[in-house]
Parts: sequence; C-alpha cells; structure tokens
Amino acid sequence: MAITQAEYIWLDGVKPTHELRSKTRIVNFDDTPSIEDFPEWGFDGSSTQQAEGNDSDCILKPVRFVHDPIRGEGNYLVLCEVYSKDHSPHPSNTRAQLRKVLDAGANNHDPLFGFEQEYTLFESANSPLGWPENGFRQPQGPFYCGVGARRVDGRDLVEAHTDACIEAGLLIFGTNAEVMLGQWEYQIGYRGFDNEIADPLTVSDHMWIAAWLLHRLGEEYGITANFENKPIKGDWNGAGCHTNFSTKEMRDPSTGKATIDTVIDRLSKRHTEHILIYGNRLHERLTGDHETCHITDFKYGVSNRGASIRIPLAVDQKGHGYLEDRRPGANSDPYLVAARILTTICDIDESVFTYSINHIEAPAT
Ligand code: ADP
Ligand code: MN
Ligand code: MN
Ligand code: MN
Repeated sequence: MAITQAEYIWLDGVKPTHELRSKTRIVNFDDTPSIEDFPEWGFDGSSTQQAEGNDSDCILKPVRFVHDPIRGEGNYLVLCEVYSKDHSPHPSNTRAQLRKVLDAGANNHDPLFGFEQEYTLFESANSPLGWPENGFRQPQGPFYCGVGARRVDGRDLVEAHTDACIEAGLLIFGTNAEVMLGQWEYQIGYRGFDNEIADPLTVSDHMWIAAWLLHRLGEEYGITANFENKPIKGDWNGAGCHTNFSTKEMRDPSTGKATIDTVIDRLSKRHTEHILIYGNRLHERLTGDHETCHITDFKYGVSNRGASIRIPLAVDQKGHGYLEDRRPGANSDPYLVAARILTTICDIDESVFTYSINHIEAPAT
C-alpha cells in the first residue's frame, strides 16, 4: 500500500484561449497503476467557464498518466478529458475532436507528429527575461541558439523543464533559445527512436503535460511562461508552434513524392479553415516578416522559412518524409491543430471536425 498524490490536469473553457487547471487527489495503489485505476472526479465548472453556477458539476475522466517528476517516485500527473454531467464530451473538450478525426480514418495512415513550442519568459509584467524595464535597444541577431550571459536568460528554468519532461517520459525532442531574447522553444514529438510511438494523440497529450510542467516549475523560479503569439509588438519575432507531420504514405519512398504533392494541394485549398483554429490574434504574428508568411497568403517551399508549409531540405532530396506547417501560433491547441491537419491531408469528411471557431478573434483580411 502506498498513499501518494495524483495531480489531475485539464483544459478549462476560457475563451478565446483555454488554459490549464489542476488539482490534487490522494491515491492508494499497491502496484503500478493502469489508467482505469484513477477514479473519475468532478470540479466546479462555473469557476472555469465550463458550466453555470446553478448547475456547475463537470466530470474529469483520466485519459493518460505519467510519473510526476516534481513530487517524485510514486506520484502521478493525470491528464483528463472534461465531460458534461450527461457523460458526453464537454464542448471545451478538444481532445475528443482529435479522437473523432483519428477514428474517422486518419489513424489508418499511421500519422506521426512533432510540435515546436515557442514561449516567452517574463519575470516582471512588461519586459521579457533579460530585457531592461524601459525597453530594449539591441536588435535581434545574436540571441537565437546563443550562449553566454546577456545572450540568453532563463536557462535554469529551461534545463529544469527539460529534465522534468525526460523524467516524466514525455517525447521531448530538443530545446533552443529563440530569436528574441527571453524566448525559448522545446519540441515534443517523433524522435526516430526504436519502438517509440509518436501518434498525434500521444504527442498532443505530452504537449499539454509539458506546458503544465513549464508553468509549474516557473512557480519555483518566479518566472511566467507566456504563450501569446506576439508578446512584444514591433520588430521582434512572435512565438509560434510549428507543426511537423507525416503519414505512412508520405514516409514511404515509393509513394512519398506523389503523396506530399497531394497533401500540399489539399492544404492550399483549406488555408482559411486552418488559420481560424491556429490561435488567437494570429494576424499579429503572421505578418510576412520575421520568418512568417502573411496570414492571407498560402506558400510552400523547400527550406523556405517565409512559407506556410516548409519542405525540409532532406525530405526534398530523399523525396519522402514529413512537412512543417509554420502557421500555428504559440497559443494554438495541439489537439485542434492536429485534428485540422489530419482532416485536410487524410481527406476526412468535413462534418467530422465540428469544433466551433466563433470565439477566435477574426484575423485582418
Ligand atoms: P526546425 O528546424 O524547424 O527548428 P526542430 O529541430 O525544432 O525543427 O524540430 C523538428 C521537429 O520535427 C520535431 O518536433 C520532430 O518531432 C519533428 N519530426 C521529425 N521527423 C518527423 C516525421 N517523420 N514526422 C513528423 N514529425 C517529425
Ligand atoms: Mn525549431
Ligand atoms: Mn523556433
Ligand atoms: Mn520550425
């Protein structure tokens, strides 16, 4: 018998960008648990914009657990889907949307995903880590993948976060300092390791657990991780969440080239539908400058960081492999982005992906 802690983590209903919530449940397991051993739980949905006060109970349904690297051995982080009291997925439950698309046929194509999450660290309200309070004079240039005091700032937190992700068994691929001082990136997804699964549901779940760990570790350092698309206006890079994806047909040398052409053609025809769920205030980031393609344009190209879809050089040379969608913003929801990409590239019936996008502030057109 071991009495330990399970941190139940879920996404709230805050619009336009939902955020993480969590609370602690004490558990008592003899052996290593399976997901069914974690009890369903409830919470007050009226405090998370998921219910009205007079009828406020929502259900937390555990769907994936990992080892909790902060509380240590025998403790767990438990990712949950939110259900309404009639036991249907709550409207804010975007994971259920991704499951629907996978079940409707996307799973047959063995998709693999990898997300590059950019974020900006703040110690005070106004300026990112390493910036003086009254703004910054030195232009961008030396900070991307930089090393050295005043070249990078926040590395202690980044290192602690990376260690925590590894210890939790998340599919962390790498990290780097970004173009703007105080901005960093971690990647979660396919790593090419033997017998490792990097399907979109697992990878997206790991993205949310990794984000939770970053916010939680930030508490220890007094540092806030900001996921906005354009935290600093002006001549500074925004923060994105480049999304890399492939299907077995794209990865197969005999079908790769033709499939990649088809996939890009399908993506070009659904540009607007994608943009609408790729994050709030995305137009502030997709300006056509700072390594982006303008929000109203769709472009693709080999090695082109000003394109919507980049074909990595090695993929072009081999003729098969993955593509990078550079449009999703740092505040996009990996469940929605993966569901949208799969709906388009696997030609899933549009009626399957029904997520309402009305609450996202419309981009300037
Ligand atoms: P970039 O050069 O754009 O900065 P990164 O090195 O930051 O790229 O990230 C590469 C991403 O590509 C990782 O998230 C990784 O998981 C993903 N990736 C690599 N190979 C594949 C593949 N075959 N299918 C899907 N994603 C892949
Ligand atoms: Mn990257
Ligand atoms: Mn980057
Ligand atoms: Mn990238």
